[in-house]
Amino acid sequence: MPEAVAVWQNDRLTAVGPRSSVRIPPNARVLEGDNLTLLPGLMDLHVHLGLEAGINFPRILMTPASLQLLHAVPNCAATLQAGFTTVRDAGITPVGVKLAVERGFFPGPRMEIAVSILGQTGGHADPWMPCGVEIPLGASLDVPDGVVDGVDSMRRKVREVLRAGADWIKLCTSGGVLSASDDPDAAQLTVEEIAVAVYEAATVGKRCMAHAMSARGVKNALEAGVMTIEHGCLLDEEAIALMKQKGATLIPTLVAARDVIVGAERNPGSLPPLMVDKARQMIQRHKASVQAAIAAGVTIAMGTDAGVGAHGDNGRELALMVEAGMAPMQAIEATTRVPAQLLRMQDRLGTLAAGKVADLIAIEGDPLADIGLFNDRSRVRLVVKGGRVVRDATRSRVAVGI
Ligand SMILES: [Zn+2]
Repeated sequence: MPEAVAVWQNDRLTAVGPRSSVRIPPNARVLEGDNLTLLPGLMDLHVHLGLEAGINFPRILMTPASLQLLHAVPNCAATLQAGFTTVRDAGITPVGVKLAVERGFFPGPRMEIAVSILGQTGGHADPWMPCGVEIPLGASLDVPDGVVDGVDSMRRKVREVLRAGADWIKLCTSGGVLSASDDPDAAQLTVEEIAVAVYEAATVGKRCMAHAMSARGVKNALEAGVMTIEHGCLLDEEAIALMKQKGATLIPTLVAARDVIVGAERNPGSLPPLMVDKARQMIQRHKASVQAAIAAGVTIAMGTDAGVGAHGDNGRELALMVEAGMAPMQAIEATTRVPAQLLRMQDRLGTLAAGKVADLIAIEGDPLADIGLFNDRSRVRLVVKGGRVVRDATRSRVAVGI
C-alpha cells in the first residue's frame, strides 16, 4: 500500500495501514522516509552467529576459544542491522550469546539456538582431521561435543544439549561440504538414532532440524520425525513427496556453497581443496533439487548458513530463491510469515498488524519489483526490534512510532 504508516507503543504495534486511515497520535516521535517499503522484521532460520565468517582453518588453529566466541558480538550486530530481527542458530553458538542479547549486553536478533551439531563418527559433525587432530569450527565453551553413535549415546547427548540450553536439536543425517572425511551423497545416522533424538526433544516440546543433503538422509530424517530439512541439495521425487506428506519445511541455504567457493578464492589455503571441490560439485545439483521442491509446493523458509559467508549479507538468499522459482512475494513470506509460523511465534511476529510485536524494517525501493534489493544491506534504512529503533537511516517519510 502507498503511504504506509505503522504506529507502535512500547513493544507493540497499535495501528498499521495507509496514512488516510491511521490516526497518528499528536505526541508521536515521527520517522519518515520516501521510496521505502515497510516489512516485518526479517528472519533467517539457519545462521551460525558464533562462527567467524569465511571459514579459515589455519586461522581457527591460531585463535583462542574465548576470542573465537567473541566473534558472536559483531556477528549479532551485523545481522540485526541488516534487518534480521529473529534468527534460528543452527549450532556452534552457546546459550550465553542468546542470554547476553536478551539481557542487553550487546545488540542482536532474538534467537532460538541448537547449541551443538550432532552426528556420527566420521560424519559432518566430526571435527577429526586426517592428521589425527580435531579442529572444531567454533568455540566449544558450554557447547557439548557432537559425535554420537548408537541409540543410547544419542539419548544421553540430546539430554546434555537440552541441558545446555538448546531450543532445537540439530542432527546431521547426511554428509556435508565442510567436513574432512564424508560424502554429501551418503546418509548418516540411523533412523533409530534420529528417532530417539526426536523423542527426547519432544519430551520438552522441542523439535529437530537435520542437515540433510542426500535423498536417503532426508528420508531417514523425515521418517524419524524431523521438522526441518536444512540444505536439501539432492532431493529425489520420493523425498519431495515425503516432505509434503509430513508437512516438513525445507531451508535451502542456496547461498552457502557459493560462499564456500568465494571464500576459498579470496583466501587461498583457508580451506582444504577437498571441501572446495565438494562445494563446486554441489551448486547445480542443489539448485535443481530446490527448484523441484518449489515446483512441487514444499514449504520453504529462508536460511543462509551465515558464518560460512558474511553475517549481515543474509538478504542475498532471497534473489537465489526467486531464481529457483519462487515469486518475489513468496520469497519475502519465506523470510517473515513462514518462519514465524515454524518457530510458533506467529501470534507475535512475522506480519505487521495491530497487537503484534513491533519488529519492522524499511528497505529502500520496491523489493517486489526487484528482489535483488536485499543483496545490498545498506538499503535497509530502518530496523525496529521489539519497539526499539536499532537502526535509523531514513531520510524523510514513512514510519511513525511513539
Ligand atoms: Zn549450517
